Amino acid sequence: MRIRSIAIAVFATLTAALSLTAQTKPAAVKTPRIYVFENGFIRGLDTKLFNLAREEVKEPDFVNTSYLIVHPRGTLQFDSGGIPDSQFKGDGALVVEGVQSADKPLIPQLAAAGYKPSDITYFALSHYHSDHTGNANAFAAATWITQKAERDFMFGEKPEGIIQPATYRALRGAKTRILNNEDFDVFGDGTVRVISAPGHTPGHQVLLVRLAKRGSVLLAGDLYHYPEERAKGILPTFEFNGDQSRASRAKVEALLKQTGAELWIEHDMATHARLPKSPAYLE
Ligand SMILES: [Zn+2]
Repeated sequence: MRIRSIAIAVFATLTAALSLTAQTKPAAVKTPRIYVFENGFIRGLDTKLFNLAREEVKEPDFVNTSYLIVHPRGTLQFDSGGIPDSQFKGDGALVVEGVQSADKPLIPQLAAAGYKPSDITYFALSHYHSDHTGNANAFAAATWITQKAERDFMFGEKPEGIIQPATYRALRGAKTRILNNEDFDVFGDGTVRVISAPGHTPGHQVLLVRLAKRGSVLLAGDLYHYPEERAKGILPTFEFNGDQSRASRAKVEALLKQTGAELWIEHDMATHARLPKSPAYLE
């Protein structure tokens, strides 16, 4: 009798533990979703860095964003903001680092959407510039999707320029899917594709997502910063390789035409203003 009641107690505990596990795991989705995270602003930039006079640009300041793609077969975090979450004190105060400022950290936004960093299957950066790598270390348990040229630069002997190696140090030991200037179908069904678009940096890449209701969306990283760069065919002053940038822009423009995708310039205030922010999502 005693053994039986112990057995029942053990069974009840196990069942409770299992259902708790089930509850904390995010619910599966039927079609892809995009969550848009807000990672602050970049203000006071000199538009001349982008080969544009101040009066040629409607909005000189940047918004900073990152995205979570949720797919029936897993998740992909694309970019990670600029200011590491460790810099926030939890009081809602604005954190300022040079030209960057933000009033909320990234991981709590991920949590509000229902995900922890340990739930994330894949992590990808558009590129290594420090306004995109702020919380890269948090995703080192995911499989990192990177172009070889980008990874080689990031972990090279002297990574120089707009770079903060400490923010992505943990990626060095991450499980990594290395691409050689190639595109990659992340979940194998063509709905989420990493597109190689080098030039801004050696292994810059963009993300093409096909949503069931909204249609296709292209997360452009820093292929462009201002819409005026696109309209006027102008490259920033600090491209790693301008010829590659021009070729990548031509490739992406052809892809936009072919798929009818919306172009989301990651730093563009006007694009960002039109989008629902996480925990709302697009599908
Ligand atoms: Zn950027």
